[in-house]
Amino acid sequence: MTDHKLQVIPVGGLGEFGMNMTAIRFGDDIIVIDSGMMFPEAELLGVDLVMPDLTYLKENQSHVRALLLTHGHEDHIGAVPFFLSDIDVPVYGTDFTLALVERRLEEYDLERQPRLIPVKPKQIVEIGPFHIEFIHVTHSIVSAVALAITTPLGVIIHTGDFKVDPTPTDNELFDLHTLADYGKRGVLLLLSDSTNSDRPGYTESERAVRPRMEEIFSRAERRIVVACFSSSIHRVQLILDLAQEYGRRVAVVGRSMGSVTEIAHSLGLLDIPDGILLRPQDVMGLPPDKVAVLISGTQGEPMSALSRVAVDNHKHISIDKGDTVVLSSRIIPGNEKPIFRMIDHMARRGADVLYGSMNPPLHVSGHASVEEMKLVLNLVRPRFFMPIHGEFRQLSKHARLAEHLRFAGLEESFIMESGEILEVDTRGARKSGRVPVGRVCIDSGTVDDVVEEMVIRDRRHLSEDGIVLAIIAINRHTGRMESVPEIVSRGFAAAMDDGSEFLANARLVVTKTMEGSNQEEKTDWGVMKEKIRADLKRYIVKETSRRPLIMPVILEV
Ligand SMILES: [Zn+2]
Ligand SMILES: [Zn+2]
Repeated sequence: MTDHKLQVIPVGGLGEFGMNMTAIRFGDDIIVIDSGMMFPEAELLGVDLVMPDLTYLKENQSHVRALLLTHGHEDHIGAVPFFLSDIDVPVYGTDFTLALVERRLEEYDLERQPRLIPVKPKQIVEIGPFHIEFIHVTHSIVSAVALAITTPLGVIIHTGDFKVDPTPTDNELFDLHTLADYGKRGVLLLLSDSTNSDRPGYTESERAVRPRMEEIFSRAERRIVVACFSSSIHRVQLILDLAQEYGRRVAVVGRSMGSVTEIAHSLGLLDIPDGILLRPQDVMGLPPDKVAVLISGTQGEPMSALSRVAVDNHKHISIDKGDTVVLSSRIIPGNEKPIFRMIDHMARRGADVLYGSMNPPLHVSGHASVEEMKLVLNLVRPRFFMPIHGEFRQLSKHARLAEHLRFAGLEESFIMESGEILEVDTRGARKSGRVPVGRVCIDSGTVDDVVEEMVIRDRRHLSEDGIVLAIIAINRHTGRMESVPEIVSRGFAAAMDDGSEFLANARLVVTKTMEGSNQEEKTDWGVMKEKIRADLKRYIVKETSRRPLIMPVILEV
């Protein structure tokens, strides 16, 4: 049996940020760990989702046995619906992770019923030649696991995303004992999270956020609006607890914040004090010092609840002078522009906006710093090491770190990029060839010349469904439309008659979107383009069932 080679193939997530996916192959059996998306840059308007190219897995479809998920962050589960529509295999994950996957699956119509199999930490499942144990780790999301995969050639440990939080707010500790047990018995290969390999020391515990939040709650005289990732259940719990202590009721605003909070509550992961919740429509009716708002949209996503509030176009919530707005999250590189634009809008309305790094912190990282990475390396003591989850510089720092530790047994570290194959057999490990990888841009997209793969995908997209341009001329002084918007299409024949009725209606859609937007939104082209694209897309899909590339063009005249 051991004449077979073991292959470890990062399909995405190495040398790039996001869309994590790793395939492990022994003989004719492949298991896949995670199926993530990449956060599309907010300026890349029109891109709904970027995910790894699945060519290799599709070509080897009959060998793929399962998809294993480490945790519920989008860079690990965001592409699951697309994965399952091509490759029909059972999906293993913890309850919370699978609940988030289900929520994503609801947005898509899969032909086959997905097979979601819940697992618990310490549970072992057998899939082909692999025995897989799930090991609880601490991270910024609850119910995160590492995987210990026993193969005929030895044990592979995949940490997933982690930090070593000695005082997690839910008291669920990192199961370092199990990790150490594997280390004692001998580990062939360690794959470990490299995100913060350039940060010395230890990442602060989630508890470190409390003092700053407490200070905000004790000082604020008017409304408090807190934005964080909806999956940060620890953070949501903290806000609920503080609101309770300081006599404020809490409204949960935004689709993802609402549904994730509900999921966590139903799984017993979130404790919601009785009577604390407030409907969003009741917020403005209560005295400002009696409410807090939990809202989604920390990254300045144009259609998110917080972005709408920032430009005063939210149905229920608005920000007034003296309100405190807290962005309890990190600024994902690439999102600075839309985030700062959103903050500007809120600052203009007189809000005190707290964001970025502060001491004590508003936000702590969910990823291990150098000392925690050392701890894991020392406990696992692998024969081979492959840093994962990071850009090349982070992977290479992590590899150096391992080499500096010089624990007995480490033969070699492999700094891999997505697509490279690490081959392991009884003689050792080595890089051996490549599989096709790349980025696939889902739905519609604009062209970013840095990413050539996208250009190719876009061209394919164009050749199949065509392109629709919406050209809007706006008067730079009044912010009003100078004329009826122009709709131009190529390679996209409107379904009905000569298409003139379709075009006239499309013009109407754009005009309505423009007229339905307030002055502040109209000055923010990012917001306007995204709104127009979304509304046009809805109309075109409904009328024609086709998905052309939609590009709004705004001309200032
Ligand atoms: Zn991640
Ligand atoms: Zn994560």
